[in-house]
Amino acid sequence: MDLAGLADFVAALWSAGYRVIGPTVGDGAIVYGEVRSLSDLPQGLTDQQEAGQYRLVRRNDDALFGFHVGPHSLKRLLLPPKERLFTTIRKGPALTVVPEQIPTEKIAFLGAKACEIQAMLTQDQVLLGGHHPDVQYLARRRNLLIIGTSCTSAGGTCFCTSMGSGPSVGEGADVALTEVISESTHHFIVEAKSSRGAELLSPLRLPSASSSEQQIAAQQVAAAAKQMGRTLVTDGLKELIAQAMDSSHWDSVATRCLSCANCTLVCPTCFCNTVEDVTDLAGEHSERWRRWDSCFHEDFSYLHGGAVRQSVKSRYRQWLSHKLSTWIDQFGRSGCVGCGRCITFCPVGIDLTAECATLQARHP
Ligand code: SF4
Ligand code: SF4
Repeated sequence: MDLAGLADFVAALWSAGYRVIGPTVGDGAIVYGEVRSLSDLPQGLTDQQEAGQYRLVRRNDDALFGFHVGPHSLKRLLLPPKERLFTTIRKGPALTVVPEQIPTEKIAFLGAKACEIQAMLTQDQVLLGGHHPDVQYLARRRNLLIIGTSCTSAGGTCFCTSMGSGPSVGEGADVALTEVISESTHHFIVEAKSSRGAELLSPLRLPSASSSEQQIAAQQVAAAAKQMGRTLVTDGLKELIAQAMDSSHWDSVATRCLSCANCTLVCPTCFCNTVEDVTDLAGEHSERWRRWDSCFHEDFSYLHGGAVRQSVKSRYRQWLSHKLSTWIDQFGRSGCVGCGRCITFCPVGIDLTAECATLQARHP
């Protein structure tokens, strides 16, 4: 598929009733917004990331998907930061509960990275896997079409290969693209990953990719796998963290951690939320809202009589041990996909791969 073909595909998605969302530039970062044409995409831009650092810089080509990940993730679309759950209206003695409308909007997300899609599957398991699926999430998920893009370079804080979640787009996508760019060509290797994806691609009558074109794309993705900015040794990590609850290393992290919750808000798998009831002064109209919460907030662990995790040390330990150890007990998989957002967007540059390496060195 060439650039004109991709533009036709975006137009075809809008015509099929999808609102197309994807990477755009806003506030000096790659953020998710509406994509009406290819000019909305971050053409020729990439992100430089390090612990506590993120900046957009120009690439030396016109790649459309040549970035890694930014502060936004699919979580914003599927589990919005704030949403009303229901409204109650009192008229005299009668109380009426008005549930929220189930979302019906069809969204096509263009340009989801492999780790992003794995994070969505991780959240699916949490929010849809039990006896009581989250109805709002379920409706949004059913209406979401995913067009993934395999990475051909890795960011400074990426470690998806350590977590088995990238850089190649696999399960969970409807269509997978690999952007191939050189002095002589700019095209995409396209693969239908679901029947819905195949149906949408079929009218475009794309030519078959030659084996050499496929090989070049695969080589570029394989090169990205070798450029990871970070590594996490996961062998025995779950058990080590469970046994190192009293390690003095948690005290060391606590001297640096601001308990600001940035890491949980940018994390694409963190799902904790709280509910708040608001009412008018007459008590005739009230609303229940759900909003993102964080285990870094002291009142997050409030039980009768006070917060269970009063120290920063206990809150950081809870976060890290849930991500990399107890999540596996609960859901059979890690709660981390190696996207690196928590490292990049930590204002003091705390790096979970470095903290784990220190724990591993101290408790061999
Ligand atoms: S814990 Fe950090 S690296 Fe892992 S998925 Fe969350 S934000 Fe990404
Ligand atoms: S680890 Fe960093 S981002 Fe997370 S709460 Fe502590 S200071 Fe904030």
